[in-house]
Amino acid sequence: MRSFPIFVSFDGKPPLVVGGGELAAIKTRLLLKRAAIVDVAAETLAPELVKLVEAGQVTKVAPQPGIDQLRGRPLVIAATEDDAEDTRVSAIARALGVPVNVPDRPELCTFVLPAIVDRGEVTVAIGTSGAAPVLAQRLRAWLEQELHPRLDALAKLAGEFRGRVADKLPAGAPRRKFWEAVFEGAAAEAMLEGDELKARALIGEAIDKAAEGGASQGRVLLVGAGPGDPELLTMKAVRALKSADVIFYDRLVSEGVLDHARREAELIPVGKAKGAHSVPQSEINALLIARAKAGQTVVRLKGGDPFIFGRGGEELEALRAEGIAIEIIPGVTAGIAAAASLQIPLTHRDVSHSVTFVSGHEAGGKAPSFEHLDLAALASGKNTLIVYMGVTTGAVVAKRLLDAGFRPELPVIAVENASRDNERRVATNIAALAAHPESLGLKSPAVLIFGEVAGLPAAGVIEDILALPEVRRVYA
Ligand code: SAH
Repeated sequence: MRSFPIFVSFDGKPPLVVGGGELAAIKTRLLLKRAAIVDVAAETLAPELVKLVEAGQVTKVAPQPGIDQLRGRPLVIAATEDDAEDTRVSAIARALGVPVNVPDRPELCTFVLPAIVDRGEVTVAIGTSGAAPVLAQRLRAWLEQELHPRLDALAKLAGEFRGRVADKLPAGAPRRKFWEAVFEGAAAEAMLEGDELKARALIGEAIDKAAEGGASQGRVLLVGAGPGDPELLTMKAVRALKSADVIFYDRLVSEGVLDHARREAELIPVGKAKGAHSVPQSEINALLIARAKAGQTVVRLKGGDPFIFGRGGEELEALRAEGIAIEIIPGVTAGIAAAASLQIPLTHRDVSHSVTFVSGHEAGGKAPSFEHLDLAALASGKNTLIVYMGVTTGAVVAKRLLDAGFRPELPVIAVENASRDNERRVATNIAALAAHPESLGLKSPAVLIFGEVAGLPAAGVIEDILALPEVRRVYA
């Protein structure tokens, strides 16, 4: 069942349970978590239902309800445990457009009941579209532990202050930011610890302060989005995405990462596909500055780590020059992710004592000269070299390394789309790469790892081994 979660209002006519047995009692109890009264249509009632009738929470109505009894109900649960009767009730309800559920008969249902974590005003509903109820229950157990038992009291308190906040603070970002600060700060902590007086005082003070403050300057968070797999985001990155009013993101940032943004956040792509038009760096800087000055929380989201070949340094300088508050949240850089995926240690006792990140491109898109590197020293030492942006220049890079005295058989592994579903790995060595420029057959984004550690992956993890006998010997 493809289903969409909503919360149904029980303020009108009571919901109806058809059936008076054990199953009907269980469903009635569930509905009573929110309904003031549940109507139960049955000839006879199980003892628990009788008690609920006595308590005034259940009204017993005639069994075998017809069109008039079903019309206008917020929902109906048919739990007579009599197949024909449940089917009949379901058919009428569906004809009337009244949402209906028949336990364990998905084909008779127009809605399913979620697993519920109940904290009074705060309700978490969990669904698996009927596919895995046990998984839903497990999630529920986990959330029960995670959600503070006094969350309800906190929500109620916030509800009490809503009117005052609405009077004093303008709608939109100022109000939302005020509440974020409340829920993250000392007021919420006090409330959850049971100190309601302190919580009230703190919220009162915060309202006055926010009302006086006027429009404050925003800030910019330079956030590393990691190599693609959203699970490689840091918790701080997720929190930053949730707090952002606007997110400027690069082409390499994957969709699953952007899913963490608030629904109302503005998402603006500024990324560059190689060679294609993109927003110039100076313009990106200007956008970040303008938005922060307008009081917004701005996230600048970059693939991998913002300070590894991401021009994060330039953005940092521009923002500093304008006196804008900045926070840097690191990310897993592509080279590290690629090594993890292949299970090759970038440093390894006796094999590699240092790691060098280099760009395979120079300004203007040329192959690199590596003039800034002491290649001869790297060739003789125990170093691992990771080349970014080197897909089209890989062969030239390999030639430079050969010229500098690197061992021709030194293993090389190229990893395309590291950490993503479409990740590919190709193994070769320097000589083979230099001799066959197109042989990698990879597309951007990919990193190339040069070094003895590139000869260490476990058998079977490499999809493509460049067809040269000496390379096969290393990896087969
Ligand atoms: N700041 C980024 C690098 C940006 S430069 C980081 O720390 O990872 C862009 C280059 O990064 C690409 O050309 C490619 O070499 C590398 N890259 C980014 N994501 C990648 C991925 N998922 N797999 C392999 N390489 C990647």
